[in-house]
Order: sequence, then structure tokens, then C-alpha cells
Amino acid sequence: MNWSKKNYSHSIIMSLNLPNIDNSWTLFLDRDGVINRKLENDYVKSVKEFEFLPQVLDAIKLFSNRFHKIVIVTNQQGISKGLMTEKDLQTVHTHLIEEVKKKGGKIDATYYAPQLAEENSPMRKPNIGMALAARNDFPKIDFKKSIMVGDSISDMEFAQNANMFAVFIGQSDQYYSTDSLMSLARLI
Ligand SMILES: [Mg+2]
Repeated sequence: MNWSKKNYSHSIIMSLNLPNIDNSWTLFLDRDGVINRKLENDYVKSVKEFEFLPQVLDAIKLFSNRFHKIVIVTNQQGISKGLMTEKDLQTVHTHLIEEVKKKGGKIDATYYAPQLAEENSPMRKPNIGMALAARNDFPKIDFKKSIMVGDSISDMEFAQNANMFAVFIGQSDQYYSTDSLMSLARLI
């Protein structure tokens, strides 16, 4: 296992207390900082700027055999700031989904919130519009049998607001945390 000693002990102390996950469960994934490298003070506007984090494709492949649905929920206010278009974003997501498929995994749907943070849109995390949209598209999604993985507090609040389990990628004293998607894939 590729955990640092600190993360390893941390994960023992803060147990996720997950019941057994069967194929009725759903995995919600944040994108930037979870699937791909986050750009500091910038947005991923093109495939050229999109870089998968280590072992993410293998992790998603493992998750694909275990979860009912895997969906991405991502805040992308760069669109409303005029730094990229919805078409640019869709091109990036088409690339993401194709690469996942090539590795034997699946992403069932991708939801994004283009609104500015100050709009406080119901679609933008920590609000749960994207979770509701996913459940509308896939009515078998049960938030109580869902895990949200993210690297921001807004992701953790989104999970709490929707009554999902929350997993923080990074270090956190407040939330169950692990260092990567692969660490989580090995754990559950
Ligand atoms: Mg993120």
C-alpha cells in the first residue's frame, strides 16, 4: 500500500464505518484534485491542461465493478467567468470518459455547475442540485447508499447536505480522509 505512515494511522482512528458496499451503491466524484491535477488559480480549459492523477484510472476501474453508478459532480465557474465555454468543458469530459473506458472503467454521467460562487446557485456545491439531477436521471440512486469523494470543504458539505458518506482526499481532522482514489479503492 502506498500510504504515508501518518495517513495510515489516521485512517484507523477515523473509521469510515461504511456498511458493506454492494452493487446498489453510488460513487459521486469531484473532479479537480480527485481525478485530475488541480491547477492553482486556474481552470482546466482544454485536454492539454487535463492530467490524470496517479493510479486514478486503475482506481476507477476497480470502482466500476463495485458500484451501481459512478458520477462526476464538478463546480466549473470558469464558464461563467468567460474563461472557457461549455463546449470546452464537454471536450475535456469526453476525453476523460474515453480514457476511463480504455482502461476498462466507466463514468455513468458528468454534472457541472457553471454558475459563479456568489450566485449561490442550487446547482453549485455545497448545494445538492447536481445530486438531485443524478437521481432524476438514475432513480435507483439512494443517497444513503452513496459516497462522495472530494478535496474541498464544499464537497464534504455537499455530502452532508445530501446525507451521503463523505471521503476527503488530503489531510483532514474533521472528515474521513485518504491520500488518493486508489487508497480508497483498496480500502472498500
Ligand atoms: Mg476539487
